This record gives sequence, structure tokens and C-alpha cells, in this order.
Amino acid sequence: MSRPAHPGPGHVLVVGAGLSGLSAAMHLAGAGRRVTVLERGPGPGGRAAGVELPSPGGGSYRLDTGPTVLTMPDLVADCFDAIGEPMERWLTLRRVDPAYRAQFADGTGLSMTSDPEAMAQRIRDFAGPADAAGYERYVDFVTRLYRLQIGEFIDRNFDSPLDLLGPSLARLVAMGGFRRLAPTVARYFRDERLQRIFSFQALYAGVSPQRALAIYAVISYMDLVEGVFYPVGGMSALPQAMEAAARSAGVEFHYDAEVTSVQWSGDRVTAVTTADGTMHQPDAVVVTVDLPGARELLRRPERRLVRPRWSPSCVVLAAGVTRTWQDRPHHTMHFGHAWSEVFDDLDHGRLMRDPSFLVSLPSATDPALAPPGRSAAYVLFPTPNLTAPLDWDRLRGPYREQVLERVEAAGWTGFADGIDAEVLLTPADWAAQGMVAGTPFAAAHTFAQTGPFRSPNHIGDNVVLAGSGTVPGVGVPMVLVSGRLAAERLVGADPRRRSRAWR
Ligand SMILES: Cc1cc2nc3c(=O)[nH]c(=O)nc-3n(C[C@H](O)[C@H](O)[C@H](O)COP(=O)(O)OP(=O)(O)OC[C@H]3O[C@@H](n4cnc5c(N)ncnc54)[C@H](O)[C@@H]3O)c2cc1C
Repeated sequence: MSRPAHPGPGHVLVVGAGLSGLSAAMHLAGAGRRVTVLERGPGPGGRAAGVELPSPGGGSYRLDTGPTVLTMPDLVADCFDAIGEPMERWLTLRRVDPAYRAQFADGTGLSMTSDPEAMAQRIRDFAGPADAAGYERYVDFVTRLYRLQIGEFIDRNFDSPLDLLGPSLARLVAMGGFRRLAPTVARYFRDERLQRIFSFQALYAGVSPQRALAIYAVISYMDLVEGVFYPVGGMSALPQAMEAAARSAGVEFHYDAEVTSVQWSGDRVTAVTTADGTMHQPDAVVVTVDLPGARELLRRPERRLVRPRWSPSCVVLAAGVTRTWQDRPHHTMHFGHAWSEVFDDLDHGRLMRDPSFLVSLPSATDPALAPPGRSAAYVLFPTPNLTAPLDWDRLRGPYREQVLERVEAAGWTGFADGIDAEVLLTPADWAAQGMVAGTPFAAAHTFAQTGPFRSPNHIGDNVVLAGSGTVPGVGVPMVLVSGRLAAERLVGADPRRRSRAWR
């Protein structure tokens, strides 16, 4: 059965082939529109593109340089559903189990799984029966929170803050969604290590657990209840699969095509020009350039009463390493002795003195990412963004050494000496790619930058935004939703659609 006709643009131009642009393109193509994607880079993926580097010993490494933790695959499947394609035809996802290991500086550790019974038993062994019972109550809490938020607050377009008002908001308030996350989590877990495990995800939203609203417990629903996945071939396999499927549905892609100017007539964009002088005259435009760059490109700067607050940034070391670690899982979250000090440091523009960091070993799930006997590895250290006076040109080398020392000290013996291919990305590199304040995580999810208070996605009559700077927010699941919300602004929601993620 084909989708009911809806008025709206016939030809839509999407600027950017990152995950938000690909999602928008697939939803628009599914709504019967002609879609052209213009991307300044050489291929799809944006932050999720990754790199392939030769190994001096022969063969090559496929390294992730951006996202590594894929959650909510239903939202990926929604994009394929939109064009009538089964996701499995284009993409193989493997569940990562354990989702990650939490490793503490005192030598204790806990492997997290999305199997609730197994997890309750592990918590019982780790911290006793009271916290195991707390875990069961917590899963119930975050599941209810997620169900309430997904349709009403996350997966929808807002025209005004008044759209928030209603029985769902009252229920969210009654559930404690607007209290702070850290004390909320502490009501379920007495063990401080468990409090960290179930609250550090606030950092993904750019806020410390002490300041984050409890509504962000939904992030722990996404990874600890729904589970963590990995695309065979590396994270870049995700945008590549979306691009290939979109092409099969008729979407046209132009690479090395940087949009440099747009022409307006009143409240409508009439033409879009790329660096080589090619002019496109679409009926509508979706812009996924990082905010506020998108608004500068569109010459529609946003005037906010309060200065925006940008998320912390990170240093990423993506490395091919000449050894393997058989006993290590795909993701290990290393927690230092310090905790609230970590966020104090980041908030006050200091490098973490006692860092907590992520080490991922994608080749543990997908050995083909590295030549035999070698590993594809990834280390992420949160850092302040560029609003802090840190000179990354000078810090680059010394901080790399510090990162490697910490990684070795955390038990990754032979990591530093084994590196034979690498990419190092600092906040200065994110800034050079056009990301505001040198952070790839956009505006922090403070209350004033969330939902209807976040930079809106509609700009002109025929221009909408998508990506992590606008609604609903940061991270792969959210930007996939943002692409669909942008499409819906232009062509309306498919009345038959019910996202798989709304169960
Ligand atoms: C280090 C790191 C770790 C992360 N970890 C995770 C994680 O584990 N889990 C998770 O869910 N999320 C994670 N994220 C966040 C997630 O990757 C992003 O939110 C998401 O990929 C952003 O997608 P996007 O389409 O909004 O932006 P982008 O991927 O930046 O896409 C925008 C595209 O627009 C193109 N473009 C820009 N300007 C122009 C122009 N003028 N003309 C044409 N094209 C243009 C860019 O080249 C780019 O391809 C991480 C990100 C980073 C960087």
C-alpha cells in the first residue's frame, strides 16, 4: 500500500551525508520526493565515517573515529522501513555482550548486560541483594520513563514550549523526571560504583550527572536495557548501508560538493550553490551542517537571550595495534578514583586529573577490522571544549603520551608500543571540521537547551535543520530521529507510521 499523498516539495536538497542527512533523505524518498544530497566530504557518514589505514605489516585497519556505541537499532530500521527495505538486507548488526565492562581504579569491575535476570544476579554478587533489587526497580523506572518520553517529547516536532503541556508532562513531573540524575540514581543504588555506572551516560548529553535532569536516565535505558550493537565492517558500515539503500530508492548523492551559499526570496530558499559554482534550485532544503554553522551558511543567525552552553569535548585516539587482548570485551569504561572531580575539571576548563575514559576494541566483535593477530582499538578521553583556554597545538603530543600512559596503567599492556597506525583527534581538530567550540557533541542538554527550548529545526518556509544541534539532540539515535523530524516538517508525518522504537 503506498503512502497517502501529501502536498509539499517535489525536489528536496539535503546538505550533508552524515547520519541525520541520510535519515532525512531516506524518509523523504520514502514519501515519494526526489532527493539530492550534497556532501562536502568524499563519502557518507560525517562523524561516523571512520578511516581505513594501511598496516605496515600488510593488510589494513578499519578504524572508528567517532561513535562506537550503537544503541536503538530500531531507529536505524525505521530509515530502511521508510523506503520499504528490510535493514538486514543492507546491514549486519551484532549485539555486543557484555554491552561494556565497567572497570574501577580499585581493581573491581562489572560486566554489563542487557539481560535483566543475568544483570540482577551480577549486581547481587557485586554489591549485594539490596542493590540487585534496586536494579530491578531502576529498570522499571527507566523503561516507564522511556515509553513516556519517546513519543511525547523526543520523537516529535515542537512548535512552541506550550506543546509540552499536557498529562504526559504531569506524569513526567510526578515520576521525578525534572529532579537531578545523580540523586535519583542514588535512590536505587547504595553502592557508589553502581551509581557511576547508571549515571555517567549524562556525559553523552553534555552535562554532569549532578546537573543533568533525571529524564536523561533514558540514555541508560538505551544502552543497558535495549542493549549495545555493532555493525559488521565498523561503524562506517552504517552510513554506507544507508547510502546504498537510499541510492536504490532513487536518492542522488554528490560528494566533494561543499555548499557555500544560499539564495533567499522572502522566507524561502530559492537556490543553493556549491564551491565549484554549481547552482541547484530545489523546492526545499534540509541542512545538517553543525549549528551554529548552519545558520551562518543560511544567514539566519539565532539570537538567544542566554549564551549557549556547549558540551564538553574529547580526545580520540583510533589505533591499529600489533597485538590482541583475548580477555578484553568490546567496550571497557575505566573509572578513576575521582568522580565528581572529573566533572568539576571539565566544567572548569581543566584536563581531568584522575580521568575516567572509554577503551573500545571493535575487533573483539569483528576481527576482520584488523589484519590477523592485530587489533582495531579506540580510546576516548573527555576534555573541556574550546571555551577553555587550552592550547591544543601545544598539548597534542604531551596529552597523547598521557593518554597512552593511562591506558597502559589500566592494564592494556603493549598498547603504546604496539601502535602501527593511528588517528589522533583533539578539540582543535573538531573545530577545524566546523564544530562549534571544538566539541562534536553540540549544545549541552541543559533544561534551557532541550525539547522546545533547543534550537528549533524550522527556519524558513522551505528550510529545515537536522543533526545534533537541533531537536531532539546528540548521538546516533537522536540524529536519526532528527532526520525524520526534518522530513516530516516538509512532507508531514506518515499517518501509517509507528516507529519500531515506540513499543
Ligand atoms: C568522538 C565521537 C564519539 C561519539 N560517540 C558516540 C557514541 O558512542 N554513540 C552515539 O550514539 N553517538 C556518538 N557520537 C555522536 C554521533 O556520532 C553524532 O551525534 C552523529 O554522528 C552526528 O550526525 P550528524 O548527521 O548530525 O552530523 P555529521 O556526521 O557531522 O554530518 C554532517 C555532514 O555535513 C557535511 N557538511 C558540513 N558542512 C557542509 C557544507 N557546507 N556542504 C556540504 N556538506 C557539509 C559534513 O561533512 C558531514 O558529513 C560521537 C561523536 C564523536 C565525534
